[in-house]
Amino acid sequence: MVNAEFILLLLSPVFLIAIGVELRKRKQSYSFKEFSLNLGLALSHQVADILAMLALMPLFYWLHKNFAIFTIELSLGWVILAFILQDFLYYWFHRASHQCNWLWAAHVVHHSSTNMNFSTAMRQSLFYPIVGMWIFWLPLVILGYTPELVFAVVALNLAFQFFVHTELGPEFKALGKIFNTPTHHCVHHATNPQYIDKNYAGVLIIWDKIFDTFISSNGEAPVYGVTEREYKISFFDVLLTPWRILISNVRRQNNIFTGVKLLFKKPSKVN
Ligand SMILES: [Zn+2]
Ligand SMILES: [Zn+2]
Repeated sequence: MVNAEFILLLLSPVFLIAIGVELRKRKQSYSFKEFSLNLGLALSHQVADILAMLALMPLFYWLHKNFAIFTIELSLGWVILAFILQDFLYYWFHRASHQCNWLWAAHVVHHSSTNMNFSTAMRQSLFYPIVGMWIFWLPLVILGYTPELVFAVVALNLAFQFFVHTELGPEFKALGKIFNTPTHHCVHHATNPQYIDKNYAGVLIIWDKIFDTFISSNGEAPVYGVTEREYKISFFDVLLTPWRILISNVRRQNNIFTGVKLLFKKPSKVN
């Protein structure tokens, strides 16, 4: 866990340089208020992540010790395989986040900006550990990867994704056949009807191609944000309003079963 946070900390100068370059070239996509909000969300997300991992590590170690299928030695081949498998699991986590109210209440934070720049990557919900993002990584622990390696790989995947949050730079047409690119991910953040619920990839776009959720940009400029409402540039509005709406919708249900069912239903309007 600490290794994972350390990876992101080590890379933070690279993130800052990228933001500096983008600020010079695409100043119009930044506002000081929103940048501060995104930074605040990133920091609170990191704190929540560290606390959650401290709480969950004993469980991960117990599962690894008692249920690991293979004894995996640390070698380049196994680490590359871990990266690919985690990216596959990330695809399903991300796809589920768009298909289920419970997960969307956390993920919507990332989509609630009407701008696209590197700071959008930092715009994350501190509720991810509570909604159970970590459950998606359990297969890797059961397979035999140590919890430390799993979380290091999760952090590397997250670090890669920082760089797909920009409108700057080339289209990466050749690389974009296999990898997620800014063009592919800008489409993911768009509310244009044809772009909704597409391109869930973390690092490898091949998952979208295999599971039929891929769309390439057709040249229409993405309109960023979410379709259900416009969020204020406010820490509490962005973070808590999705939960307030979800809880009030659940309470409006006739009984506990339809209430619970609603948590797992597809959000009525998502992108
Ligand atoms: Zn998304
Ligand atoms: Zn994104």
